[in-house]
Amino acid sequence: MKKRFIAGAVCPKCKAMDTLSLTKENGVEKVTCVSCGESMTQPEEHVAKEVRPYEQVIGVFKQD
Ligand SMILES: [Zn+2]
Repeated sequence: MKKRFIAGAVCPKCKAMDTLSLTKENGVEKVTCVSCGESMTQPEEHVAKEVRPYEQVIGVFKQD
């Protein structure tokens, strides 16, 4: 499974930056911190805000 890291996102638990990876399980987006292991199925609002512009960037470079 590919992990996509959220650029500039800060973990709400350990406050590390650029450690949050985004995966999709059963259609539900899940954010996991690779630093402390914290995982969120419903990212906090400030995290979700970071995800949205990043998703758009991914779309531009998507390759099949
Ligand atoms: Zn963390």
